[in-house]
Amino acid sequence: MNTQKAVEVLEALVSFDTTSRNSNLPLIAWVEIYLDKLGVAHERIPNASGTKANLWATIGPNDTAGYILSGHTDTVPVDGQSWTSDPFQLTRRDGRLYGRGATDMKGFVACCLAAVPDMLARDLKRPIHLAFSYDEEVGCIGARDIAARLKDAAMKPIACFVGEPTEMEVVIGHKSKRSFYVTVHGRTCHSSLAPQGVNAVEYAARLVAKIREISDRLARQGARDELYDVPFTTAHTGILHGGTALNIVPDVCTLEFEFRAIAADSLDALTDKVIGYARDLLEPEMRAVAPEAGITFDLRSSFPGLDTQPAAQVVSLTKQLAGRNGHGKVAYGTEAGLYDGVGIPTVVVGPGSIEQAHKADEFVAISEIEKCGAFLDRLVSHCAA
Ligand SMILES: [Zn+2]
Repeated sequence: MNTQKAVEVLEALVSFDTTSRNSNLPLIAWVEIYLDKLGVAHERIPNASGTKANLWATIGPNDTAGYILSGHTDTVPVDGQSWTSDPFQLTRRDGRLYGRGATDMKGFVACCLAAVPDMLARDLKRPIHLAFSYDEEVGCIGARDIAARLKDAAMKPIACFVGEPTEMEVVIGHKSKRSFYVTVHGRTCHSSLAPQGVNAVEYAARLVAKIREISDRLARQGARDELYDVPFTTAHTGILHGGTALNIVPDVCTLEFEFRAIAADSLDALTDKVIGYARDLLEPEMRAVAPEAGITFDLRSSFPGLDTQPAAQVVSLTKQLAGRNGHGKVAYGTEAGLYDGVGIPTVVVGPGSIEQAHKADEFVAISEIEKCGAFLDRLVSHCAA
C-alpha cells in the first residue's frame, strides 16, 4: 500500500462532513468514481429512504470465499468542540493527520482504498471485499443490511476484519449493548394532595435504583472476563428528566439506561429483570391510584457483542498479518458482532487509537497508516498465495 496514496484518499474522505445526521452519499459517490477508475465493480446497499448507503465491492474472484475489510463512513459531530484546525480539512502536524474521522475510522477506509491497486496487481486466488457502512455511530445501523445479505450467501466469506482504531492490536471481543428510553406516566395533582396523584419522578427513581441494584450485583458477584478493563457487565442510567414545580405532583418522568454485557451475560435476561420489576411491582401500585398510569420502554439501540475464541483460525491469521502475538478485548462497540452473528469469524484490527476518537483534534499518526499498510500488504499476499 502506498502511504502517500492513503493520505490523499484520507484527505478526500475527511473533506466530506459525514456526521451521522448527514447523508453519506457524496462520500460514497467519490469512492465509486475512485473504484471506477480502477475498473472495480461496486454496489450500493441503500437505506429505506435512499438518503444513505453502504458500499460493497469485491476485488478478485467472485466464486470463492475471501475476506471482508469493514469500515464505517459516518463520524460523530464536531458540535461544541474546539479544534485547532478545520476538522474537515486534513491537516498534517508532527507526523499526525488531523481531521474528523481520521482515526475513527476514515483512516482505515483510506488504507483499504489505497491498497486496491496492489490487490489488482496480484492474481488473487481469494477475493477481498470492501464493506463500507453508514450510521455506525448511531447504533451500527447500515452494517445490519450487509450482514443480512451475507447470512444466506452461497459463498460465505472466510473472515472479516473490522478496522476500528486498535493501533493494529488484535481485538477478539467487545461487549454487547442495549439501551432504552423509558417514560413513566403518573397522575398530576397539587402536592398538598400528593396521595391522590401518582408521582412519576418517584417511580422513575425506584426504577433507577433497581437498575443500580442490578449493576451492583453484577459488579460484586457477576461473571468475569478479565480481558476487559471493566471485567463484568455494567448497567447505568445516563439521563433523567421530570417535574416542573415543587407544588405539583409530576405526571411524567423520562429516563435512559443501558446495559453493556460480557458474553457470559444475556441482554434479554437483564432487560427482563428491569421490565419485570416495572410490570410486577411498580405498575400495580401506580394503577391502584390511577388506572391510566404506567411505564413504557422504547428500545433505543442494541448491538451484539463479539466473542471470538482465541484459538480461532481468524485470530492466528490476524496476528500473523498484524505482526502481533497477543490479543485483547475493548470497551467500545463495533460492527464486528453483526458479522460474527451471521457466522463470519471476525476480529477488530485497525490503525490509530480510540483515545483520539470522538474528540477535538482527532488524529491518526502516519506511522499507524504505515502499519495498516503492512497489514494489508500481507493480506494481499495471503490472498494471492
Ligand atoms: Zn468507529
